[in-house]
Amino acid sequence: ATVEDYLKKIDASKHLNAFIEVYAAEALQRAVALDQLPAPQGKLHGVIVALKDVICHKDHGLTAASRILEGFTSVFSATAVERLLAEGAIIIGRVNCDEFAMGSTNENSAYGKVLNAADESRIPGGSSGGSAVAVQAGLCMVSLGSDTGGSVRQPADFCGIIGLKPTYGRVSRYGLIAYASSFDQIGIFAKTIPDTALVLEVISGADDYDSTVSQQPVPAYSQLLEQDRSYKIAYFPEALEHESLDPEIGNAIKEKLKDWEAAGHTVTPIRFDLLDYVVPTYYVLTTAEASSNLSRYDGVKYGHRSEESNLAELDDFYKKNRSEGFGKEVKRRILLGNFVLSSGYYDAYFTQAQKVRRILTNNLQLILKEFDFICLPTSPAVAFKIGEKSKDPIAMYIADIYTVMANLTGIPAISLPLFTHPTHQMPFGVQLMAAPFNELSLLSFSNNNS
Ligand code: GLN
Repeated sequence: ATVEDYLKKIDASKHLNAFIEVYAAEALQRAVALDQLPAPQGKLHGVIVALKDVICHKDHGLTAASRILEGFTSVFSATAVERLLAEGAIIIGRVNCDEFAMGSTNENSAYGKVLNAADESRIPGGSSGGSAVAVQAGLCMVSLGSDTGGSVRQPADFCGIIGLKPTYGRVSRYGLIAYASSFDQIGIFAKTIPDTALVLEVISGADDYDSTVSQQPVPAYSQLLEQDRSYKIAYFPEALEHESLDPEIGNAIKEKLKDWEAAGHTVTPIRFDLLDYVVPTYYVLTTAEASSNLSRYDGVKYGHRSEESNLAELDDFYKKNRSEGFGKEVKRRILLGNFVLSSGYYDAYFTQAQKVRRILTNNLQLILKEFDFICLPTSPAVAFKIGEKSKDPIAMYIADIYTVMANLTGIPAISLPLFTHPTHQMPFGVQLMAAPFNELSLLSFSNNNS
């Protein structure tokens, strides 16, 4: 298919609201230029990509789906974007998401909600809902999102596609708008494992602009996918019996574990007592980091400036700009973050959460010394109906129970679309997590066993 075909599909799918901006003329021009080259430009020659609206792309708009960045233009490109372009990719547009990547439904966007193409009365998941629907509905070949607590894996699960969150430090965060810097990682949406592997291999690796990115060499993931062997899979029975989990999802995953065992892998139940701590720990630490990261949007250098604000009254100036610019969920998190960091509560919340993070990391490290993967659901339920959870932030946060663990501990995780819910007729997936920098095992297992 050509860029024209994709543009037509995007046009016909406007009501899904996946795209914030489509670069039609530019994408067409680039396709022509690529066609005229004597040889393919690179590994992604002509591959059509969409970018979540939190990833910088030089001379293009960037808003994090927030009013506060309305009209902002990137002055540089993210390292991941530079690498995609260097390998011949065509960027077809930027896609919708929850404001500053905070959310699980894509309902917290200044550009409105996104519809799930499998059932338009349902949300696509979030925060990278636009990235997921763009791939799901065939509006691009692959897309980038960001995953701080599940924002790639959960919408992939809800939309019936693949979502990969790489190890923390595998992919440069340079040019990714920060939500919670010690959790954030750019991730990939695709329909096939070879596509996922190819994009990962292109965007990964050392980068002088991000001191947290690893120097570890990048394997040629896409060349190594056929390597098949017997893997050791651990699962947490507690997690599959958890009260928040839809029993149909639990059953489907148990069946899949049996299939994998029958296929020659070992499947072992492991006791895990920390499941109920992961969501509180995640929300204490990420809101703390977010409150600090988002303090830069004050309307001085950039960001929304209220018509009523007066620079001479500096406190009032900030207050007006930020009150008008940020949406409700972002404000809630800035308040929560300031609370857990305040001197009277710092030890009780922030310090305590850091300790839990350490215990959790040690615990998973031990398990992943012995096992190749930990298998979990991706989400406790299929995609919610529009509006179903939007009035209840706590219920929404609790639904992140299976995804935040990988971000708290920095390990890679993938969501694989393997099932259709018998009652809701909606897709859902299974999640596999591996030891740091073991993306290759995740990808090759997935390639040969799904
Ligand atoms: N739902 C989670 C949150 O709201 C995940 C967000 C993300 O990964 N960006 O924080």
